Amino acid sequence: MSAYTVVPAEGLVKLDAMENPYRLPETLRREIGEAVADAEINRYPDPTAPALMKRLREVMGIGPEYDILLGNGSDEIIHIIAQSVARPGAVVLAPRPSFVMFSVYTQLAGLRYVGVLLNPDFTLDPDVFLRALAEHRPAVVFIAYPNNPAGNLFSEEAIATIVAAAPGLVVIDEAYHAFGRKTFMARLAEFPNLVIMRTLSKLGLAGIRLGYAVGRPEWIREFDKVRPPYNVNVLTHVVAERVLAHYDVLDAQARSISAERERLDGALRKLPEVTVFPSDANFILIRVPDAHRVFEGMRRRGVLVKNLHTGVPLLHHCVRLTIGTPEENRRCLAALAEALAAG
Ligand SMILES: *Cc1c(COP(=O)(O)O)cnc(C)c1O
Repeated sequence: MSAYTVVPAEGLVKLDAMENPYRLPETLRREIGEAVADAEINRYPDPTAPALMKRLREVMGIGPEYDILLGNGSDEIIHIIAQSVARPGAVVLAPRPSFVMFSVYTQLAGLRYVGVLLNPDFTLDPDVFLRALAEHRPAVVFIAYPNNPAGNLFSEEAIATIVAAAPGLVVIDEAYHAFGRKTFMARLAEFPNLVIMRTLSKLGLAGIRLGYAVGRPEWIREFDKVRPPYNVNVLTHVVAERVLAHYDVLDAQARSISAERERLDGALRKLPEVTVFPSDANFILIRVPDAHRVFEGMRRRGVLVKNLHTGVPLLHHCVRLTIGTPEENRRCLAALAEALAAG
């Protein structure tokens, strides 16, 4: 295995990690400052986080019949779920390519990871997936909706069929929910084996690390046995609660990022030699003639993006561009066009 490396971004337009480019308004930042000043940081955090839980339920429309698990980012929730189901021979199944941490935490928990290859356009073939379910009988299926790294939403019907056919738990990872605007939250009642996972990271709060999973108490109770006692810190509780009280601010930012994505998508499609994959997230995946040259050429021009040409199937010469502010996207597009032209 290799450690998760973060490329230094000092002095660069940072478009490599699906962060929200916008800061919070000054008034809200002051409000957060006051809330943080009042926080009892001499005490361990209350893991039941009543104020934050209440706010999350309100803002995200989570019914009282479901429980919520909080994580130090949704990365930790993936880790907790993998550990919860770990038994010799157990399998975790996910589309391939998808979010890398599904496979990392699966391996760390000593489980077997099976990736089900997507179509070359990154759509999911339900028949192939159903066959994989029957063959491997996975303890857990992870499906990112929209998927990372292509940003597309798989067919809702296909996912529902998979959830119905799965012999174990299905986790739908809605990290990009605010941009895709589609969710399985309302379908939790239909499927006893479904858990929804989300994060505040892509919404503008990557720095505080808060993810959550929503599901029937029977599931959340088991995950809670694996969760480290004080996994989410007091400051994260306080800040998340205050920012979610102004969810309209985050939602407006997400909407303008989605509008920018559509604009950038149109501009990218005019570039020769670039294949653009449709995205419902806050990033766009493209294929270029030489990903390494484009990555380096863009970095030399002050823009950091993600080179996904690392041997992963289907991602041959693919580069992922996070959506930034209109000005950052203009620089991104110019840097890309120049890097391509430099040949
Ligand atoms: C970014 C991302 C996450 C991780 O989010 P954190 O809450 O910051 O740990 C989870 N799932 C997907 C699909 C992601 O792209």
